[in-house]
Amino acid sequence: MEKFLYTVLPVSMNMLLKLSVHMANELSYGCHIKLSGGYVRMAERAIALYEQEGCSSFQFFAKNPRSLQVKQFVTAEAERCRQLMEHYRLRSVIHSAYPLNLAISIHDQPEAAIQHIQSLCNDLEIAEVTGAIGVVVHFGVAKKSNRLAGYQDILTTLNTVLAMYKGPALILLENQAGLYGGIGSTFEEHVQIKQLCIDPERVGFCFDTCHAYVSGLWHADNQLGTEQLLRDGDRLGYWDDVEVVHVNDAAEPFGSMRDRHAQLGTGHISLAAMKELLSASQLHGVMNVLETPASDVSFHQPEWEILRQLHYSN
Ligand SMILES: [Zn+2]
Repeated sequence: MEKFLYTVLPVSMNMLLKLSVHMANELSYGCHIKLSGGYVRMAERAIALYEQEGCSSFQFFAKNPRSLQVKQFVTAEAERCRQLMEHYRLRSVIHSAYPLNLAISIHDQPEAAIQHIQSLCNDLEIAEVTGAIGVVVHFGVAKKSNRLAGYQDILTTLNTVLAMYKGPALILLENQAGLYGGIGSTFEEHVQIKQLCIDPERVGFCFDTCHAYVSGLWHADNQLGTEQLLRDGDRLGYWDDVEVVHVNDAAEPFGSMRDRHAQLGTGHISLAAMKELLSASQLHGVMNVLETPASDVSFHQPEWEILRQLHYSN
């Protein structure tokens, strides 16, 4: 049976899990898991990683990451995936397809814009039925010459998607490395765009540590840089809506705007700065997901130990 869902369901399981992880001050971490073989096969891989390494969070592509084509999913299989997530108390999030651009202009490119909107709605439906908390979406690619139009187009896309999809899966805006017309790398932009949406409570954030560092948002090289970052986010209420942290070291220097991820402890961000950030009370209970280079999950092995130490040691 195949179907699209545009229904309103209570958020339930994921909110409860976030709350319980937060209250117990537990670490919820993991990495990207391959979808090959389908949603149930993916869930089995996630369960194996949970049993071996304690990874209780993961990210996945709902469909081919290089295409915006809508995926016709088999509901029974996706629901089985959700049941497994609930049984093992795992949390997952979808990463939208690479070509997706919230700043696509419906006036200049109506056909393409519709494709982007449908692709995101499709991802949100798959998130809901597989039990994922939502869909991570990059802030958007705008023309440098017209940033304001870029923001307007992002709002149009978001509002159209929010009007079409009414379920519990969240849209999670991810901070960018500083390219793409220079938008999407500050807290102000994220908080403003969320507040201007027709349904702000269904929009949250995904904070990427590598992007924050190379864009110049997070002065991790500076001794007071992390404290300042946390304070800046507090002032705008940004951290309250962060559901996921992409925990990536940076292969390029501070402010370089070059987006190349490195494994934890091998790039420019010191482990001391990473520890200060990840163990901050503002980030308790969020999903910590590695997007660092690894052709197989086994290559993340040294990083699990680092993550555990970052959170628990003093
Ligand atoms: Zn990321």
